[in-house]
Amino acid sequence: MSNAFIALGSNLAEREGFLKDALTLLDEHQHITVRNKSSVYETAPVGYTEQNDFLNMVVEVETALPPTELLDYCQRIELDLGRRRIIKWGPRTIDLDILLYNHENMKAERLTIPHPYMQDRAFVMVPLADVAPGIVLPHTHLTAEETLSKLPPDEVDSVKLWGKI
Ligand code: ATP
Ligand code: MG
Ligand code: MG
Repeated sequence: MSNAFIALGSNLAEREGFLKDALTLLDEHQHITVRNKSSVYETAPVGYTEQNDFLNMVVEVETALPPTELLDYCQRIELDLGRRRIIKWGPRTIDLDILLYNHENMKAERLTIPHPYMQDRAFVMVPLADVAPGIVLPHTHLTAEETLSKLPPDEVDSVKLWGKI
């Protein structure tokens, strides 16, 4: 069994519903079990800012799937929940990014693990530090908590606790 962390984000209409549906679909897979869920956080968009605020969370899963098959299933969930990629970094029903897979570093055409920008993104590191503060990022050798403490405080403060699902 492998251990992975997946970041979920949504900023369209039924944001909470899309997060819940994605969690249900993840857990429905025969070879994926959701072990831990962070709280849900609300974050103003980064990059293309003319869009709604995001809800973000991170889940820890136990899985028998190899990384590429886990990505296939995450992309399947994105399609099932009607994501249409129109604007880069633009609005989407749901985004599922694989942050960590065991303690592995891998770089393939479709998949880079750890997710290359995770350490720079407060909207990822706040929920990751919530669910697994001591987890070590295999590319930086810093824990989630240490990584978070290096981010600009105003960016960290802009990630607001929204609730639990
Ligand atoms: P970002 O990756 O900067 O958060 P994004 O999530 O909006 O951007 P997507 O459109 O969801 O980007 O994905 C673009 C491609 O990224 C996917 O087709 C996938 O093959 C690739 N990818 C590479 N590494 C990962 C990863 N760790 N998790 C998910 N997708 C990845
Ligand atoms: Mg993403
Ligand atoms: Mg993505």
